[in-house]
Amino acid sequence: MARPSARLTVLSGPSGVGKGTVVAEVRRRHPEVWVSVSVTTRQPRPGEVDGEHYHFVDAEYFDWLVANDGLLEWAEYAGNRYGTPKAPVDEQLTAGAPALLEIELQGARQVRVRAPDAQLVFLAPPSWAALVSRLAGRGTELPEVQSRRLALAQAELDAAGEFDVVVVNDDVARAADELVGLLTAPPPSRRSARNAAERSAPE
Ligand code: ADP
Ligand code: 5GP
Repeated sequence: MARPSARLTVLSGPSGVGKGTVVAEVRRRHPEVWVSVSVTTRQPRPGEVDGEHYHFVDAEYFDWLVANDGLLEWAEYAGNRYGTPKAPVDEQLTAGAPALLEIELQGARQVRVRAPDAQLVFLAPPSWAALVSRLAGRGTELPEVQSRRLALAQAELDAAGEFDVVVVNDDVARAADELVGLLTAPPPSRRSARNAAERSAPE
């Protein structure tokens, strides 16, 4: 992959749309892509590894991180708290390497305010029916939690227009390709500067 510009990219979208699946596919193809590991107060699902999928922390430690400005953003989602540790993201960007966050809508809005240059990508389902069947098919939540997540998903879908780009997760490989393209795309200012230079270049 061509060396991407150091840019913060946020991938968001409703629970069950396939964010984790698409990010895992990106990492499988491009292990060099750096993905932030969030802290969460949620209990690990079977197979989830502490420090790899999440840093699983207790409520007290989460409070401490918030109080000490240790999180770039954080949100409460379906009864649990989730946040992005700030220092590793800063280190990545300072080193000139891109950073990818996979977070929900309230967090994406906070990043928009705190890091206005960040690229906000919304992962959308091909249809509402596909979203419902993916969330149920994953089988990791009790029906009551699934309904709570679907109610949130409806509001999250309405927010797609706030994002810079919408990627439809119709097919995992195709969506992963599109996301990789976005990660490696120069920021718009540089893109338009280059286009302007190309337009004014003599034939
Ligand atoms: P999220 O991280 O957005 O909550 P997941 O990555 O856990 O969602 O995916 C939810 C379910 O949908 C999983 O069972 C996953 O295998 C399935 N899935 C993801 N992407 C697709 C796709 N493009 N087509 C069909 N099923 C998908
Ligand atoms: P899950 O419990 O399914 O792993 O995650 C629930 C939701 O929290 C998903 O939409 C996921 O993207 C989001 N999430 C994961 N980490 C973070 C984070 O650090 N900050 C925010 N705001 N949301 C997160």
